[in-house]
Amino acid sequence: MHFALGFSYLCLMEQQLQTDIKFVAGVGEVRAKVLERELKVRTVGDLLNLFPFRYIDRTRIYAIAEITEAAALTYVQLRARVTGVAYAGTGRKQRFTVFVEDASGSTELVWFRGIKWIEKRIEVGREYLIFGRPSFYRGELQLAHPELETMEQALSRKVESGMQGIYPSSETLASTFGTKGLYRIVCNAWATLRGRIADPLPEALRRSYGLLELHDAYYNIHFPQSAELLRQAQYRLKFDELLGIQLGIQSRRTERLAKQNGFLFPKVGELFNTFYNERLPFTLTGAQKRVIREIRQDTISGFQMNRLLQGDVGSGKTLVALMSMLLAVDNGFQACIMAPTEILARQHYASFQRFLGDLPVRVAILTGASKSRERREALEGIASGEVQLLVGTHALIEDRVQFRNLGFVVIDEQHRFGVEQRARLWTKNLQPPHILVMTATPIPRTLAMTLYGDLDVSVIDELPPGRRPVLTSHYTDAARLRLWGFLKQQIARGRQVYIVYPLIQESEAMDYKDLTDGYEAVSRDFPLPDYVVAICHGQMKPADKEESMRQFKSGEAQILVATSVIEVGVDVPNATVMVIESAERFGLSQLHQLRGRVGRGAEQSYCILMSGEKLSRESRARLDAMCETTDGFRLAELDLKLRGAGDVNGTQQSGMAFDLKIANPTRDVQVLSLTRDAAAALLAEDPGLLRPEHRGLEALRRRYSGREKFDFSQIS
Ligand code: ADP
Ligand code: MG
Repeated sequence: MHFALGFSYLCLMEQQLQTDIKFVAGVGEVRAKVLERELKVRTVGDLLNLFPFRYIDRTRIYAIAEITEAAALTYVQLRARVTGVAYAGTGRKQRFTVFVEDASGSTELVWFRGIKWIEKRIEVGREYLIFGRPSFYRGELQLAHPELETMEQALSRKVESGMQGIYPSSETLASTFGTKGLYRIVCNAWATLRGRIADPLPEALRRSYGLLELHDAYYNIHFPQSAELLRQAQYRLKFDELLGIQLGIQSRRTERLAKQNGFLFPKVGELFNTFYNERLPFTLTGAQKRVIREIRQDTISGFQMNRLLQGDVGSGKTLVALMSMLLAVDNGFQACIMAPTEILARQHYASFQRFLGDLPVRVAILTGASKSRERREALEGIASGEVQLLVGTHALIEDRVQFRNLGFVVIDEQHRFGVEQRARLWTKNLQPPHILVMTATPIPRTLAMTLYGDLDVSVIDELPPGRRPVLTSHYTDAARLRLWGFLKQQIARGRQVYIVYPLIQESEAMDYKDLTDGYEAVSRDFPLPDYVVAICHGQMKPADKEESMRQFKSGEAQILVATSVIEVGVDVPNATVMVIESAERFGLSQLHQLRGRVGRGAEQSYCILMSGEKLSRESRARLDAMCETTDGFRLAELDLKLRGAGDVNGTQQSGMAFDLKIANPTRDVQVLSLTRDAAAALLAEDPGLLRPEHRGLEALRRRYSGREKFDFSQIS
């Protein structure tokens, strides 16, 4: 019942939470800097909202013999007697070893730093409580830099909970705060907050959703009193985050629709009609037509459109984008499309030029790699309004790009963009343009909204006719010779081949090595002059990448060895084989995207998943699913089910509309839908959240409606 204490109390609590972290016992100036740098923790409130990602049972004491490599324990607690110490090395290579034993066996504790400090605390013959991370060196157990307490200390220590939280750490953090990391600091901070945390949710709401009080939720997330209370604490904290988001999205939607400030595209004009009647090289699918109609409806409604277009790989989203952009141009507006990679932007540009031919519409391209002339022409043309269609990468959101009258924005493969990046595009206008966001990852609407903000959803659920499903199979290294034979056969028929290596992060040196090794192996097995092998990865210069892509597109190169930079959008219909190396390291939707690069022409296409022999259950399920179906929607559903931690289609947290500490909208689907209903009910009763008992909710809504950063539609 903390809330009943009223407004002044809330303010007091707010002050407490805003207190600089350096004032917490055990922190101080220096450590505060480390916390800020490593974890962005500046205040007591930040610390309170830094949750353990795992818990260890402090009541459990392991026997040394139990700790084996196979047991794969991350933290252990031992009770052991020191039998001796040893020093080795000098200067920076120093090493201090403490030998300990219990009734079951013996092991070594080692220190490489802070030796002076620790040696004073070690007494041979004495028993200690030891806590640390086991590691194995040549099969021998050792603990590096463990925490140590004498048994007397340990027994007199006051503990909040038998389950001790493990907080995010890094090398710097570990050397600043020791193995227990932030735990002690969190204890100290909690001492100042205990009993003083107000609850933003009205009691009635808490009761009907069976929620713990916020104070107790914080207590139990940091110091779980039982597994059940921990679960309830997590539920409560997730509920708050997702409720805040839902309140924000739903009220913003109401406001957006109330504003009626959408640009009007009343006519279907010359450009659109000529294109449709004379230039379109094929008939649109029924689904493409429907989506164009939906967009047309939006752009004559007076409301600002905010639409997500979901369509499987190869379903023809680009064409829908182009035709919608022509509608904008017909009505005197500029339109732009933003692609996540240079390659994709160039490809859109080329295909727009091919589609449009000599139609009177000026298209320009602007990317990070644009040479000065291209850049100047684009920038001038955009500012003067002469350029009507602009294609580009995130270079489009730079400040110097000033549109004359931007009316329509398309964002292709949007999961590649951070929300902030997207938001900056909208600020280029006084009035917000219509927005079409395109993705090949079908996700439920509530989830999409949580990830990307308030939007309507269109779906292309039909592929252009005549596509033959890609045949997919899974092999291990043992089949490599056969694979090479198959590739040679395909190339002999005039086809082309992709070989893709994983690259989770473009900077990961190891992945890069896999790729270059692979390239060398392929070049060796497919020697010139019979074959040309092109290579393409994120660390290459844009010009070199472009040259590789050109070679492959023109058919000069038969094989393209690449990283997942080609995952999105690349369109080379003559390529019929997609080989994915270390396929177990890709997520389902990424695999599906990659597979979508083939099967674009009339020929039978193949996707070959290569993996090691040993596979986790989940990896195997993913590869099996790929072999069984080519239906992107089914795969996406399965993906949601299979995935433990992860996120949708590599949607990095940065791409998400909201900064979530604990809820994961892809996993917490149930909480998500509960909060959606709760938000709708609350707003129906009290749209402005003006009632006194809703003051806390209003704060929650404000926190997650992110006016400053994320509100695309209200910048005007
Ligand atoms: P995605 O939805 O994955 O972005 P694209 O827009 O790249 O798909 O389209 C894939 C290929 O299908 C392109 O070569 C495009 O020209 C072609 N295409 C698009 N619409 C049709 C259609 N209605 N009939 C035949 N081919 C089409
Ligand atoms: Mg595409």
